[in-house]
Amino acid sequence: MFRKILIANRGEIAVRIIRACRELGVRCVAVYSTADRESLHAQIADEAVCIGSPATKDSYLNMNAVIQAAINTGAEAIHPGFGFLSENAEFARLCEKAGIVFIGPSYKSIEMLGDKAAAKETMKNAGVPVIPGSDGAVRDIDDARKVAEKCGYPILVKASAGGGGRGIRRVDSPDELESQIIAAQQEAKNFFGDDTVYIEKFLVNPHHVEIQIIADKSGHTIYLGERDCSMQRRNQKILEECPSPIVSPELRERMGKAAVTAAEQCGYYNAGTIEFLVDENRDFYFMEMNTRIQVEHPITEEVTGFDLVKAQIEIASGMELDVRQEDIVLRGHAIECRINAENPEQNFRPSPGTINALYVPGGPGIRIDGAVYQGYTITPYYDSMISKLIVHGSDREEAIRKMRWALSEFIVSGVDTNIDFQLEIIKRPEFISGNYDNGFLTRYMEKRKK
Ligand code: ADP
Ligand code: ADP
Ligand code: MG
Repeated sequence: MFRKILIANRGEIAVRIIRACRELGVRCVAVYSTADRESLHAQIADEAVCIGSPATKDSYLNMNAVIQAAINTGAEAIHPGFGFLSENAEFARLCEKAGIVFIGPSYKSIEMLGDKAAAKETMKNAGVPVIPGSDGAVRDIDDARKVAEKCGYPILVKASAGGGGRGIRRVDSPDELESQIIAAQQEAKNFFGDDTVYIEKFLVNPHHVEIQIIADKSGHTIYLGERDCSMQRRNQKILEECPSPIVSPELRERMGKAAVTAAEQCGYYNAGTIEFLVDENRDFYFMEMNTRIQVEHPITEEVTGFDLVKAQIEIASGMELDVRQEDIVLRGHAIECRINAENPEQNFRPSPGTINALYVPGGPGIRIDGAVYQGYTITPYYDSMISKLIVHGSDREEAIRKMRWALSEFIVSGVDTNIDFQLEIIKRPEFISGNYDNGFLTRYMEKRKK
């Protein structure tokens, strides 16, 4: 096992990784920007190094500054968390070059899977069902027209390098195609520095169901059930549950096996997530693979009893998985609500400011993965997610009940949050029945406006 690792992230995920380090008896180094001096991760790590100014490109995305901090503090490995450098193949390669272990897959796997258009080709060739669309990237507008005709409108134009729900555009008719492709390329270039786009058939109101996998460096790969992330706003997840209310044991097994095939195809090791869309016939299609720990990983941990972050660190250090597929049993039901400092009544505008009172819920089956404390000032520079509330119950009904009371107890004052909005969602009959798809929240928000 490593003696010391550096955490190249901030917020709740940095805190989560620090906790895993404590359990493993590994010392941990936090890095922070000048805006994050008072951040929890910088305060509770064994050591903390300032790596630059607030702008992400000058601190959390500054590869040389992060690697230099690891060298200076004698850290043997770097955990990238999610977002920032977590899916950056160049960063993983630079770590290796500097003799530092990147806690994640090999840079070659990241390269293969980070290009979403190319990844779909790889999966198709491996026999994993994919969403119909272009074979790889769109070459030119004529090519795009042919593909779109074949799929049938509406279609989506997606950035190959996209992530975080960005770089996705819907095209409803042939006369919008050219202008939308140009706009998508421009957006992709601005956001991701790469204007490659691909086309996908737009599936109408599917369910987002993703499979968690874990693999060690000897190629031993298992799946840990699924997560339903169909509660989305603007293609971004806001609430997740495990297991999915629409997945039968038989479908789980088929999707799990497809996910393991997908991972094995890329020589994948570490934690990873294969995202699928499931249609009304309960057919599933590969969408993308995320080569990192995910925001919603705790619900899988609660239901399987398997600590994913600890396993990531152990696998990176060369340890082999000591669990087999048949050891993985799903117990009960877990739900996660992402708690953001934002105002749902003002189009979810971020709400930075000082938290002057904080009370977090507790009791059996309640877990908070957070990064804020009373007196903490949320700055405008980063993501507005300040905490995740996770509940675990013996079944879905119990989990929903727990979430309801936990959200009602949760007090954050001084900034606006989406706590009441989350409460409103979990009280909806569509959610309670488990009968909601990716389009539910958009439809609901339209109705709510009126
Ligand atoms: P998950 O799939 O784990 O739920 P999200 O899509 O919510 O993850 O992304 C997790 C975090 O990483 C978010 O803060 C998101 O904005 C950020 N993120 C994800 N992919 C990218 C990317 N390619 N570029 C920039 N930020 C990203
Ligand atoms: P990101 O890399 O930003 O996470 P994804 O490709 O995973 O992007 O898509 C994000 C979300 O967009 C999905 O969860 C889904 O709600 C929606 N989406 C993506 N592709 C399709 C599609 N072909 N049809 C319908 N919805 C889609
Ligand atoms: Mg995705």
